[in-house]
Amino acid sequence: MFDVLLSEDEKGIRNEVREFVRDKVDRDLILAMDGKTKEYPYEFIKAAAKENLLGLRFPTEYGGRNLGWVSEMVAIEEIGVLGIALGCAYSLPSIIGEGIEKFGTPAQKKEYLLPTLQGKKIGGEGLTEPRGGSDFFGTNTTAVKQGDSFIINGEKRFVAGGIGADYFLVYAKTDFKAKPHESLSAFLVDRDMGVKVEEEYDLMGCRGMGAARIVMKNVEIPESNLVGDLNDGNAVFNAMMVPERLTSAAGPIGMGRASMEIAVRYADKREAFGRAIKRFEGISFKVADCTTQLDAARGLVYRAAKKADTGEWVRKEVSQAKVFGTEAGFQAVHEAMQILGGIGYTDVYPIERLYRDARLATIWTGSNEVQRLIIQNEVFREILSEDKSAKRDVELDTPGAHKTVEKVYSEEPDKYYPK
Ligand SMILES: Cc1cc2nc3c(=O)[nH]c(=O)nc-3n(C[C@H](O)[C@H](O)[C@H](O)COP(=O)(O)OP(=O)(O)OC[C@H]3O[C@@H](n4cnc5c(N)ncnc54)[C@H](O)[C@@H]3O)c2cc1C
Repeated sequence: MFDVLLSEDEKGIRNEVREFVRDKVDRDLILAMDGKTKEYPYEFIKAAAKENLLGLRFPTEYGGRNLGWVSEMVAIEEIGVLGIALGCAYSLPSIIGEGIEKFGTPAQKKEYLLPTLQGKKIGGEGLTEPRGGSDFFGTNTTAVKQGDSFIINGEKRFVAGGIGADYFLVYAKTDFKAKPHESLSAFLVDRDMGVKVEEEYDLMGCRGMGAARIVMKNVEIPESNLVGDLNDGNAVFNAMMVPERLTSAAGPIGMGRASMEIAVRYADKREAFGRAIKRFEGISFKVADCTTQLDAARGLVYRAAKKADTGEWVRKEVSQAKVFGTEAGFQAVHEAMQILGGIGYTDVYPIERLYRDARLATIWTGSNEVQRLIIQNEVFREILSEDKSAKRDVELDTPGAHKTVEKVYSEEPDKYYPK
């Protein structure tokens, strides 16, 4: 049904990635990653790179295919079916790549972006600190200029894939007097420049990728590893948050869709009180609601992706897709488990693993509370700045306030009542 939103080429990508997921990903790898041992899924990344599936939207000279954002979203939904750990491994080249492609020097693109998209170099992302992730701009990590180098001190935690990373894209404070949004810079820090990587936690889901703490104590990096302008980490961060949050939205749609497919087949076969359980509205309405939410979520993801292709400011649409996609995905997995009853809670079906995986999605890449803050900020800004540019003064709670509103509508009839 959602095919109407995709071009023939995008449908082709979906089929290609679906085949990759079905034929080229080792089932044992998924199970091994869900165990306690943390090991980076190198073989998965290499297999994806071999099929030229990493960073689909990047220029061909850096290992991409020059496709649009929608193609990437279509791909990540399919990879999402495998769970959040492999989805994360697949998304990281795109997330880190965005920062390097948009802001990096030609040398950085050659040294980091190209090998990353070729599956030869693994990158991790260091934003969150032990003191907190939501207040990103309050970072305590510092980078101080010394000759032709920067000296970095600080700790980042919950670095997914840190266990296998060759380098990290790290944000650090470089201006100690400026406002938070003007005080950070982004850096590429090689692991062998002196970064200590520790795995501290066992995770509920997303296992295998781990969540490392990286400690940088007087780590000296060359000035040439600064990404973008000094003190303009904000710009790099904003760019990276587009793929970060869109992939976070699209992956759980895949998890939810896969769980619903299992649940529908199960409800067709499983009987209670002498009939297939799909005959009970208590069951079938869950399917109706969840598939509707998943389709709506997919629509939001594609809308944000299409807007991202135009290069326009897309923060509101991205956050809306992230909130809705992650919540619809989790709800679908949750209800699928309910439809399966007790067996859904066992490891006979992958639903219990997907449940643990999908739970993460509303927390990471900027929690859904933070996304709602962003959405409301953007909505207020959009509407109030429209009022300002039209020099409108909308009075509230005064007699005749409705007239102001009517005036607003009658001023621009074409906008509000298109023919
Ligand atoms: C498995 C895993 C992998 C991760 N991978 C990475 C990674 O690769 N790189 C990386 O940098 N980080 C990563 N993270 C970190 C993740 O992005 C953070 O956990 C997340 O941003 C929340 O930060 P926090 O945990 O410090 O919670 P806090 O910031 O302490 O927030 C705690 C709670 O308060 C809420 N809250 C905070 N501020 C507000 C507000 N203003 N209004 C309303 N509610 C608010 C939050 O939504 C949350 O519910 C990962 C986390 C996990 C668990």
